[in-house]
Amino acid sequence: WSEGTAEDAENSLRELSALAETAGSTVLAGVLQRRSRPDPGTWLGAGKAQELRDVVLSEGADTVIADTELAPSQRRALEDVVKVKVIDRTALILDIFAQHAKSKEGKAQVELAQLSYLLPRLRGWGESMSRQAGGQAAGGQGMGSRGPGETKIELDRRRINSRMAKLRKEIAQMKTSRDTKRHSRKVHHVPSVAIAGYTNAGKSSLLNRLTGAGVLVQNQLFATLDPTVRRSQTDDGRVYTLADTVGFVANLPHQLVEAFRSTLEEVSDADLVLHVVDGSHPDPEGQISAVREVLAEVGGDQVKEVIVVNKADLAEQHVIDRLLRSEKHSIAVSARTGAGIRELRDLVAAELPRPDIRVEVLLP
Ligand code: GDP
Repeated sequence: WSEGTAEDAENSLRELSALAETAGSTVLAGVLQRRSRPDPGTWLGAGKAQELRDVVLSEGADTVIADTELAPSQRRALEDVVKVKVIDRTALILDIFAQHAKSKEGKAQVELAQLSYLLPRLRGWGESMSRQAGGQAAGGQGMGSRGPGETKIELDRRRINSRMAKLRKEIAQMKTSRDTKRHSRKVHHVPSVAIAGYTNAGKSSLLNRLTGAGVLVQNQLFATLDPTVRRSQTDDGRVYTLADTVGFVANLPHQLVEAFRSTLEEVSDADLVLHVVDGSHPDPEGQISAVREVLAEVGGDQVKEVIVVNKADLAEQHVIDRLLRSEKHSIAVSARTGAGIRELRDLVAAELPRPDIRVEVLLP
């Protein structure tokens, strides 16, 4: 089920397959359902759910991934029909982020997002437990409805809440230390470039291209930079920092945007955003708007942006031309072959602010 056209739904399903494979799964089959509204019970509707069960059996699948965020009760109802584990898009994306988080801060942010996803889902489970335990009480709040299940849920919920509070505190502390570093870079007039873009667009490859080929200067000021912030230099010797940001996907779970807010805010503080787009993707414009939506949420839309159409070695020329025409500040490159990187460096050098040269004249 999707709000857009059949083509949108197919693209979205294709992306879901790619995401599932990123998470280490093998995708066996896709089932598309068109309806005007999701079924409140099983989300798919009884007939389609049964069809899905047949596909699961014939393919020997052990998991169903729904391309949406399922209500807890819908997930359970669907699981009852297909008889294998059902997860939704949000859970899948959270899982991928959990696998990819490397820094202490990233790990804490993902765990916070996972717990905030889990918390309301505990209640769904608890309700069914108390119904089983309590039986007759309408609304489930009567004396008799307090089964042992509910007590356990309460306990779990309290534990999760206190873990979340601890994570929030840790993240806030790490943010303070990052703010201090950023402030020190500002004081020393070090311009900053943030690399943003859809997941798999080639952000890391581009970061390596831009920093690997550049002259790295040894400067104690940068000794304690976060590993995702690297430095490079323009030809005329101006040092700047390059920060990689988290990957974006369409319908990025809001729990993640919330948890990563402090990291994403780095973008809003940059002098320039290199917005990397995979030119060989079937819907690069869709990816651009998905990224801009998230950037706007954290104030990153106020920063000067250059659209970097990557994978020019794979992309069709007419798509590259279309993107370059529609985006005023844009450039085509290939992080793989190095084509266009020279021009990109020149563009970055031209866009970065020049440090003020202050001449102090001391009068007698
Ligand atoms: P990120 O998720 O945005 O950081 O993307 P990565 O840098 O990890 O790249 C994703 C995939 O695209 C990797 O398999 C890269 O090898 C590939 N890739 C990146 N840049 C290019 C490019 O210019 N051309 C081609 N053909 N592949 C690229």
